[in-house]
Amino acid sequence: MITHIEHIGIAVKDLDQSIKFYEDFLGTKCYAVEEVADQKVKTAFFKVGETKIELLEGTSSESPITKFIEKRGEGIHHIAFAVDDIKSKLTELKEKNIQLIDSEPRLGAEGLQIAFIHPKATNGVLTEICSHEK
Ligand code: ZN
Repeated sequence: MITHIEHIGIAVKDLDQSIKFYEDFLGTKCYAVEEVADQKVKTAFFKVGETKIELLEGTSSESPITKFIEKRGEGIHHIAFAVDDIKSKLTELKEKNIQLIDSEPRLGAEGLQIAFIHPKATNGVLTEICSHEK
């Protein structure tokens, strides 16, 4: 079951500069900066109610974020939905033949288990589902 929008991921060129803007705009401090080596990104998080804003900067030219920005410029990169049980949600999506990027959950920022659904299946929006480990 999907419970809420966990976060919106925004691809940025300069994390420090973007943190300054969003801290000012949202009126809240960035509460975590974390590097996810596996995905070659550095992330910064802000809380907006139950939802978070996740800024993403690529840490190498091989980073999916760097490639995304080269192709499409800065902007919304993905939307993440919180699910109560990621494994059963993935099973459900597979049964419905929905095209996935990750068929098994993997470790994302903030210790969440995450999996991406292919944008071809979601009207062009890279979609993440995530949950706390079960
Ligand atoms: Zn995310």
